[in-house]
Amino acid sequence: MQHPWDRDYLPREELEREQVGKLRRLVAYVRERVPFYREAFERSGATEADVQTLGDVAGLPFTVKDDLRANYPFRLFAVPQDEIVRIHCSSGTTGRPIVAGYTRHDLDVWSEVMARTLHQAGVTSGDICQVAWGYGLFTGGLGAHYGAERLGATVVPISGGNTERQIALMQDFGTTVWMGTPSYATYLAEVAEQMGVDVRALPLRVAVLGAEPWTDRMRAEIEERMGIRAYDIYGLTEVIGPGVSAECECQSGLHIFEDHFLPELIDPETLQPVSEGKPGELVLTTISKTGMPLIRFRTRDITRLHYGRCECGRTTVRMERVQGRSDDMLIVRGVNVFPSQIESILLGIEGVQPHYQIVVDRQGSMDDMEVQVEVEERFFSDRVRELEEFSRRVRARIESTLGLRVHVRLMEPGSIERSTGKAKRVVDRRRQQ
Ligand SMILES: [Zn+2]
Repeated sequence: MQHPWDRDYLPREELEREQVGKLRRLVAYVRERVPFYREAFERSGATEADVQTLGDVAGLPFTVKDDLRANYPFRLFAVPQDEIVRIHCSSGTTGRPIVAGYTRHDLDVWSEVMARTLHQAGVTSGDICQVAWGYGLFTGGLGAHYGAERLGATVVPISGGNTERQIALMQDFGTTVWMGTPSYATYLAEVAEQMGVDVRALPLRVAVLGAEPWTDRMRAEIEERMGIRAYDIYGLTEVIGPGVSAECECQSGLHIFEDHFLPELIDPETLQPVSEGKPGELVLTTISKTGMPLIRFRTRDITRLHYGRCECGRTTVRMERVQGRSDDMLIVRGVNVFPSQIESILLGIEGVQPHYQIVVDRQGSMDDMEVQVEVEERFFSDRVRELEEFSRRVRARIESTLGLRVHVRLMEPGSIERSTGKAKRVVDRRRQQ
């Protein structure tokens, strides 16, 4: 019997042949049906005949979030409205919302990739899946719902919130799989403890978490407190919702469902491809969608891609957990630096507090970067030599990751300014000159 997840094991040559064929058909499809793309292709001069190999995708025009806003709400749809069966919407903190339209075929693709997501996390038709992402215009709830149903699992569509009831139903129903945001999982564990419920003793064994940034340290904490395995999932409304990529049992990167989403990694400044293993901005082309397909959509998410075969045997490319947004990128002495890279290094060092600031300045014609980070009180009562030694260790860790010389200044607890909103992580004095 054929399962949708058999497609995660295709030989690369076969997969790539399929991708090229789908990409070529997609270019013809949107050129004919979407005025925005017809004009973009006329400007760039590219046609479907130019797509002979996967590398040829680089000759096609990009699509950015502002293009979606400018064509709000339905002008990027490639089918008449009577073929659109679902609309989802992302809230967006500024400006118009982002709208996505799905045909019946698109909903099929979505359920399939979500079923593959769950299968990768070891979920089967015998599982009871509690979906705690929001149901509604947000893609999380319904995406997970249809995927779990496609797999044949029992779905509990509880949606977000109502935490005590979440825990009560987990006990009563014997929920084995929970899907939601990582921060909500942490909160759920806290509330369970307050209620005197030992989550570790419940049948719960897997959590599939996403829709917000999290770290491996948070994963370890959730797994330990709940006695489960927690898997990362990635997606975005523009592309389909959750189910663009997801971790397998090896938890060593998220497999992209490449037969539907063609990934590229570019330098956000030069827009040129970056080599394998280097960080760059993820660009996705939706090679299977029919309702609102996108060509080379710039996600702004920074990650790395690994094409080497995973220990699980799947052949699909793996992306690393998203490291940050390209909008936050700094260029220091020609090197791309993401504040989130520095944050993840710092959070991995014992004794470092989660408060830091990156100060970039220019001395003459040279850029100069200093990382100021708060460390535990005890370092300041210790001998100076130990403080210096610790500072050297932090510096070495940052330099080896960034490939860039930096200064590190250890700060006393509470000395870096706190913010009630988004923390100010970067002070770029070059812009003030
Ligand atoms: Zn794998």
